[in-house]
Amino acid sequence: MALLKDRVAIITGGSRGIGRAIVSSFAKEGALCAFTFSSSSKEAEALSTELKAMGSRVMCERVDVRDYEGVKEFVEKVKEEFGGLDILVNNAGINKDKSIIMMTHEDWQDVIDVNLTGVFNFTKACIVTFLKQKSGCIINMSSVSGLSPLPGQASYASAKSGVIGLTKALAREVAPYNVRVNAIAPGFIETDMVKSLNENYRKKILDLIPFKRLGTTEEVAQGCVYLASDYASYITGQVLTIDGGLSI
Ligand code: NAD
Repeated sequence: MALLKDRVAIITGGSRGIGRAIVSSFAKEGALCAFTFSSSSKEAEALSTELKAMGSRVMCERVDVRDYEGVKEFVEKVKEEFGGLDILVNNAGINKDKSIIMMTHEDWQDVIDVNLTGVFNFTKACIVTFLKQKSGCIINMSSVSGLSPLPGQASYASAKSGVIGLTKALAREVAPYNVRVNAIAPGFIETDMVKSLNENYRKKILDLIPFKRLGTTEEVAQGCVYLASDYASYITGQVLTIDGGLSI
């Protein structure tokens, strides 16, 4: 049974990494996927072509999550093209980890703008549709860094714990309209964001993870499928941690 049959989903940052796995998993579960990307247009086109060949309905567009006007235009286009909107996955994110002494105001602002204000922008552009139809589901990508950060993560941890605050506040606000809002907090997942870690640091991280391995993008995507599906119909305002036990 396809868990997301005919649901229309927007996934931000869907061209690579965790976002790509979410788009693929949602499409396999029968969803109509509209995803955004910021720079990887070739990867986005390749994913779109691959899924269309499997019979899925997919659209993708370059949208900067910081640009509210562009975000609104994209959401309207998706609703027109796919005839509705059921799920929003706020996945796009960046990190610029460095000590507070080295962190510039620009570094700080970029991380807050993409990871936190980007979530606000897409949420604001979708929420009236969800409230009017009295159904909808929002999944926000936080991080274990938003729960228990490592040194050098002042901006990233602030943004990601902000995402958890936004998730919980909004979950209370929109629950009377049957709209669910949850967050996912991945630990260390094998993606471009984590590949840049040096070998020494990687070893230290593996030591801290009870499973002694990094997570896969598919493992995060499956959590996302679950939260988006009817199996999670009584779950809102929660943070699903997918981290191999790191935060125990
Ligand atoms: P990634 O760098 O592989 O992909 C990030 C995606 O965000 C890309 O598709 C990129 O195009 C998009 N993006 C970046 N800036 C954007 C902008 N201004 N506008 C629109 N899109 C933009 O990263 P990933 O590892 O797949 O991470 C995905 C999400 O998961 C992020 O929110 C990240 O913070 C979070 N996360 C990742 C890990 C990990 O270990 N990889 C751990 C915890 C949380």
